[in-house]
Amino acid sequence: MERELSLNYSRCISANPKAAFIRCVSVSAAPLSHMFVTFVSAQQGEVESGTRRKVKRLLSFQRYCHASRLLRGLVPHTPGSLHLLDDDYLGQAAHMLSKVGTWNFDIFLFDRLTNGNSLVTLMCHLFNVCGLIHHFQLDMVKLHRFLGMVQEDYHSQNPYHNAVHAADVTQAMYCYLKEPKLAEQLSPLDVFLGLMAAAAHDVDHPGVNQPFLIKTRHHLASLYQNTSVLESHHWRSTVGMLRESGLLSHLPADISQDMEQQLGSLILATDISRQNEFLLTFREHLDNQDLDLQLASHRHFMLQIALKCADICNPCRVWELSRQWSERVCEEFYRQGDLERKFDLEISPLCNQQADSVPAIQIGFISYIVEPLFEEWHRFTEPSLLSQTMMGHLHKNKARWSCLRCAHTPSDVQAHSHADEPNPKGGGGEGENIP
Ligand SMILES: [Zn+2]
Repeated sequence: MERELSLNYSRCISANPKAAFIRCVSVSAAPLSHMFVTFVSAQQGEVESGTRRKVKRLLSFQRYCHASRLLRGLVPHTPGSLHLLDDDYLGQAAHMLSKVGTWNFDIFLFDRLTNGNSLVTLMCHLFNVCGLIHHFQLDMVKLHRFLGMVQEDYHSQNPYHNAVHAADVTQAMYCYLKEPKLAEQLSPLDVFLGLMAAAAHDVDHPGVNQPFLIKTRHHLASLYQNTSVLESHHWRSTVGMLRESGLLSHLPADISQDMEQQLGSLILATDISRQNEFLLTFREHLDNQDLDLQLASHRHFMLQIALKCADICNPCRVWELSRQWSERVCEEFYRQGDLERKFDLEISPLCNQQADSVPAIQIGFISYIVEPLFEEWHRFTEPSLLSQTMMGHLHKNKARWSCLRCAHTPSDVQAHSHADEPNPKGGGGEGENIP
């Protein structure tokens, strides 16, 4: 069993395991047709004419799902949806807002209490408590409209890359911006950009990775020349929504353009294929002790690092939250694998449910991506209380996945995971998944 799993994993972890893992989640290509459009249509149960399909391809992945763009940003009034929440729920959500900025904040619970509006609610709260609305003289109606558009452009059908992930990354980013080492040096513009980039960093994510877009010859892959395709799309979509909402229209053009560029630089830094580039630069700065946070360029670099940490911090969370994110991201990988199998494409690394178990994927992710970055972050914070907490969870979670990998076949792990689901708070004891 163990041998079988390690053989499967070794298919993508060869001479250079770190590079191989990054390759697994970011590279590879083989030409085919416009499978992606069929995929999206099939997902939404739509039967569409060729013409309409062509028109849709020119728009965002998500946007064409909505009949009228004029209504975007408003709460949808679909029959059966609960848009008038019980006072108890609103009271609990408001109470949870007082805990924003603490590491074990349960974003899944917060999303339920806000009826799926966690991203908008969280961002409005953070902009308020950080004084950004006052500082940048933001129009609340425009801000709400912009945030509504961003939240709506996330795909709720994605198990992982959805608005809850964006809210979770934003909450984590806020925790990092509060780190004493950073907080004293950051300007209101830094905080504004950090939170905005976190909220929008995966907007309109299609639930498949870049290699899939390349091998199905999606038009975005050629538009961005097969480089940071998704990240470029997240950024350009954000700029489009900023301009459409007019949120920054009261600022001088050179200022708002600079903000758009900086947002791009932050969002593009989340491209996992650039992990080594950032890690090496970060390590070098720490070795040379030459980070000068009085310099705007160094603060920007640290915002990039903070956003990268926030984006992959799931294994640093308490087990019950961490496990849910792990299962969600693997579910998204497996869906891509199923789609590739269906259309007779080569199944991407980590996307084969029969071969790539959740524990094996998580151990690779933690070992080659998460640990190296967080070890440097730990060093940067000298180390802070939060950093020590995160490293503690990271080591425990890795050990736990190792136990699960040793003990279960992939199908056993899946069955076990689903058996845990009826308890939304994950109230099981520490030893529940350890045989
Ligand atoms: Zn992300």
